[in-house]
Amino acid sequence: MFRRWWFLKAQSPAPTPEHHPSRREVREHQALVLGEWEALRDRLRDLAAERVTAAGEVFRAAELRLPTEESAARRAYQWALEAYEAAGRLLDGAHHEDTDLPDLAAAVVLAEQAVERLAAAHLLHAGQRPGPLAVRCYWNPLHGPAESSAEPPKNRKTRQRTRNTAREAAADRRPACRSCRSAILAGQTPDVLPALLPAKAAPGRKGPVLVPYFAVPRQWSPWSTTACGAYDPATPALVLRGDHHRRPPR
Ligand SMILES: [Zn+2]
Repeated sequence: MFRRWWFLKAQSPAPTPEHHPSRREVREHQALVLGEWEALRDRLRDLAAERVTAAGEVFRAAELRLPTEESAARRAYQWALEAYEAAGRLLDGAHHEDTDLPDLAAAVVLAEQAVERLAAAHLLHAGQRPGPLAVRCYWNPLHGPAESSAEPPKNRKTRQRTRNTAREAAADRRPACRSCRSAILAGQTPDVLPALLPAKAAPGRKGPVLVPYFAVPRQWSPWSTTACGAYDPATPALVLRGDHHRRPPR
């Protein structure tokens, strides 16, 4: 879904000693970047709407009425409800001009985590112990759950050799889904979620620039350090307070 923006970036008409891009070339490239961003935003908005609707249906079908003594189940249920509400809030803002791809990715993440926590609340209510939330892929939090490093090697020698490869180290640096992990191990770029770099965060640049979402400086994006909220359980509260909007204007 997200590969194309990377190729567009590679085709950027950067000046070289042999060729200085004309204004027209630059304008055309900028239009391509914005077009790609808008297409991705439309697709993400649809995906977020689908996930929020699906989560709403699950909540309606699996409502819980918990006695006060079931505090762990109540906490899980409350968090799930807040995550669901926060996902809806992000989706409601989808048409706001400041809404970027990571805002919509966060809506997807929160809707899915809401369903996960709701299931956990049911397990707690039934006297069972749920596992933690699935760890999501850092490179693109819309992907499947992260995998730990590959199969344990059979002997120590192999293990040492495997650990020593730079690619293996790079793949282990962040939680990665199977596909991103394979890409990194093959020396390729994983299918990274892009974001539009705010113009003021990129002085000297003309026009829109797509960058990996985690490369947007923290003060410009609440999502860049938390995998679109997936790694921070305080995210529903942040969104419901409206603090995810607190960033310098573009
Ligand atoms: Zn991934």
